[in-house]
Amino acid sequence: MSTIFKKIIDKEIPADIVYEDEHCLAFKDIDPKAPVHILIIPKKEIPSVAEVAESDKELLGHLLVKASQIAKDLGVSESGYRLVANTNKEGGQEVPYLHIHLLGGRQMTWPPG
Ligand code: AMP
Repeated sequence: MSTIFKKIIDKEIPADIVYEDEHCLAFKDIDPKAPVHILIIPKKEIPSVAEVAESDKELLGHLLVKASQIAKDLGVSESGYRLVANTNKEGGQEVPYLHIHLLGGRQMTWPPG
């Protein structure tokens, strides 16, 4: 599997990176759906939430902890934000590499379309 997100991790294609550590990478979505729109991805290649394993527990927790920190860093923690992990076809997932959208900077609506 070599998706566009794997290429971003490998620095083969550019991205506007806002956070990186040994386990994950966070970068601005190229087509933002909100004033703040960040994608948080694990460096381990996992196609979607549908394919996580028990052994991914710590990594998945790490992604959420970092999402919380990035929201603070970008100034949307108090106002609020939404975390989304589109999963497979009916979930609206287009890139087959697990990612969490962090959306903020405007009022979110519910239910999603
Ligand atoms: P999803 O529909 O949940 O799979 O979301 C994929 C997201 O990746 C979309 O919001 C795209 O705008 C975003 N995206 C696709 N290619 C890039 C890229 N090269 N850099 C940053 N974001 C991207």
